[in-house]
Amino acid sequence: MTDDAFNHDEFQLATLAIRAGHQRTHEGEHGEPIFPTSSFVFNSAAEAAARFAEGATGNVYSRFTNPTVRCFEERLAALEGGASCVATASGMGAVLSLCMALLKSGDHVVCSDSVFGSITTLFNRYFTKFGVEVSYVPPQQPENWRKAVRPNTRLFFLETPSNPLSVIADIRGIAAVAHEYGIVLAVDNCFCTPALQRPIELGADVVIHSATKYLDGQGRMVGGAVVGSKEFVGKDVFGFLRTAGPSMSPFNAWVFLKGLETLDLRMRAHSAAAMEIAQWLEQQPKVTGVRYAGLKSHPQHALAARQQSAFGGIIAFEVSGGKSAAWRFIDATRMVSITANLGDVKTTLTHPATTTHARISAAERQQAGITEGLLRISVGLEDLVDLKADLARGLSAI
Ligand SMILES: *Cc1c(COP(=O)(O)O)cnc(C)c1O
Repeated sequence: MTDDAFNHDEFQLATLAIRAGHQRTHEGEHGEPIFPTSSFVFNSAAEAAARFAEGATGNVYSRFTNPTVRCFEERLAALEGGASCVATASGMGAVLSLCMALLKSGDHVVCSDSVFGSITTLFNRYFTKFGVEVSYVPPQQPENWRKAVRPNTRLFFLETPSNPLSVIADIRGIAAVAHEYGIVLAVDNCFCTPALQRPIELGADVVIHSATKYLDGQGRMVGGAVVGSKEFVGKDVFGFLRTAGPSMSPFNAWVFLKGLETLDLRMRAHSAAAMEIAQWLEQQPKVTGVRYAGLKSHPQHALAARQQSAFGGIIAFEVSGGKSAAWRFIDATRMVSITANLGDVKTTLTHPATTTHARISAAERQQAGITEGLLRISVGLEDLVDLKADLARGLSAI
């Protein structure tokens, strides 16, 4: 069969991740081609004019569309079960494009209080300048969201599982509240990816991705995406992107395509490895707490098991002795990477209180449960014998 006759409804996720989206050219290439071109040529003046007309399809300029980028967009849309996808220069570019397409001055946003730090900065420092109001709620219970609704609420924004403490939000319940009031629900699906959780099937209107993380999976590129309906994402979000320009480059799209091909395999392997490490950490005397939704000790384990097919690769754990113990742990490791990135085949280790969450106040950190002894590990795909040995080196330095 030809890939351009590929019917998404017929195939399973692992197959779509490898094959969806490629429109084979007249060259008969097997691999997806990269189109490093800024613009596209027309056969005549009339064709050029027609291509520029409102609502016309066909390539004009790579800020608008590019065949390699489109291949990535169609593949991710198929995986998330959305009708449209718009690829962006970064995950934050995706959040910005969503908000610029949806919000106007006087609108109100309800945002989970456990989201990626730059998202709160984007709302608090920039969107408030243009008269958009934002409230933050603990995301777990749908009732928290209902209580925050105002007549001018346009958007619910959440991330589940959250970073770094794996707080789980009930997507189905929150979607029901959103739709009762005509509010758009956007879910950042960065930690699970569609391999483990499909928010649109659970009722979300929009899925946000930082492709930088698991979609690439090998720490190479920065990128993002917005997935949703043809009406909203295909027209409004795309309309903002083509005008304002936070577009994905064709080279990056090609790398993300290669990343998606192993997504299902990687996410299952990351989840299995993280489960083993989480259980191992729970048994270590110097570890005072482990937060991983796969553990029975996680307060929302049952909810996570209902809406996710596995629990992903990110674990937060607390060592006794506060910041100095956490830093000694980090400095005693030899293999894991001390870096803020996550979702990589390489295991990464972070001290949230002094890095990713350093810019919020100590009181806010306390409120969010980001203690001085908390460490976040993104479990990679190295051999678990080596990983446990490295973490044991960290523990013995405390
Ligand atoms: C990294 C991240 C983002 C932002 O993505 P960038 O690609 O870094 O712009 C958004 N949400 C979550 C959950 C993230 O981890």
